[in-house]
Amino acid sequence: MNDPSASLRSLCDSFDAEREGGGLFDLAARLFPICRSLTGEGNRQTLAILSEQIPLRIHEVPSGTPVLDWTVPPEWTIREAWIRDPQGRTVVDFRNHNLHVVGYSRPVRQTMTLDELRPHLHSLPDHPDWIPYRTSYYHETWGFCLSDSRKQSLVPGKYDVCIDADLKPGHLTYGELVLPGAKPDEFLFSTHICHPSLANDNASGMVVAARLAALLAGVSRCLTYRFLFIPGTIGSITWLARNRETADRIRHGLVLSCLGDPGTPTYKQSRRGDAVIDRAAAHILRRSGRPHAVLPFSPYGYDERQYGSPGFNLPVGLFMRSPHGTFPEYHTSADNLDFIRPESLADSLRRLLDTVAVVEGNATFRNQCPYGEPQLGRRGLYDLLGGANERHEQQMAMLWVLNQSDGGPSLLEIADRADLPFSRIREAADRLAAAGLLEE
Ligand code: ZN
Repeated sequence: MNDPSASLRSLCDSFDAEREGGGLFDLAARLFPICRSLTGEGNRQTLAILSEQIPLRIHEVPSGTPVLDWTVPPEWTIREAWIRDPQGRTVVDFRNHNLHVVGYSRPVRQTMTLDELRPHLHSLPDHPDWIPYRTSYYHETWGFCLSDSRKQSLVPGKYDVCIDADLKPGHLTYGELVLPGAKPDEFLFSTHICHPSLANDNASGMVVAARLAALLAGVSRCLTYRFLFIPGTIGSITWLARNRETADRIRHGLVLSCLGDPGTPTYKQSRRGDAVIDRAAAHILRRSGRPHAVLPFSPYGYDERQYGSPGFNLPVGLFMRSPHGTFPEYHTSADNLDFIRPESLADSLRRLLDTVAVVEGNATFRNQCPYGEPQLGRRGLYDLLGGANERHEQQMAMLWVLNQSDGGPSLLEIADRADLPFSRIREAADRLAAAGLLEE
């Protein structure tokens, strides 16, 4: 077998979208209710559930550890949080929704007037029934998030306010899985684990990443795969600070987020813009013949910013559906389990597998008979199977591979130039190599 990606391709061919979608959704539904943050028990619980799917290694990095230009923050523990109105009725209760308390709020136990309380209340007047998601990780404060309709109903008077929380030295927790391949060159997948009770951003990223890892664990691999389940920003910075040499081995990478909404698949390029992953992801989206988007890099977004900071400059793009911030449900209680779809989750997983198959199968060959066209008929290379259209495409693929393989363009570049699917080009290269006409 010439092609190390063949077992991966058969995985793609036997992909059962309905079954995968159901499994992904069920796992997202288990993770959804957990209160996650940059640190804390919710993150450990989340990683424990993901560990049922894949053998994650759990890392605990002490608070106060310097990491690049940052410091690992104290660990946040939240036990309860509520507001009682002048009549003693509980008008906001963290037990009803994780989003009710501003992430990383410091503890509070106080009685105050509505006017004193107001600056600590966050709502969304444009969506009066939704609860916003707010955090204050690096500036010590406290606050509550609530629906605007509830906020408008509050009457003047004395309010009892309680946030029973700790901000104490503890640990930042992250999960890591390495699937060794034939080569030490690595393909990184990274997803954040720090959002409480938000389905698209980010339960969808965690479940698709975990399933992708489980599927890749079962096939032969040329590249080594590394999966990171980390809190956003500080997690990737922590990993990069602790793994500077490993980072040098990363040849391709994808940050995964927002993979379950019904929007079109979107790829945001790496900082380099012309890396293999940029070409592979764009190829898969374009060849699907369905709506999609390819966006240029920008230094705002998820952890591709950290991997693509100039000192590292790793070829890591971002794969998502609707880009963060572009859908009204983003960072609100409306990003719930009704907002994500099994079919979208399965479609995201499928496209990631296809992208991996392209990256695994990509190679550069040299035509061993480069003076004039080699006689294909004499070598049995015109005896192709399939209908007329398919045979024509197979022939064109062989002619393109022979013509372009001078040690320069890779198969992926040839596929793009020929406007043919990568799998067709790879198949042609395998046949030509088997006939002795090509060498890697
Ligand atoms: Zn987010």
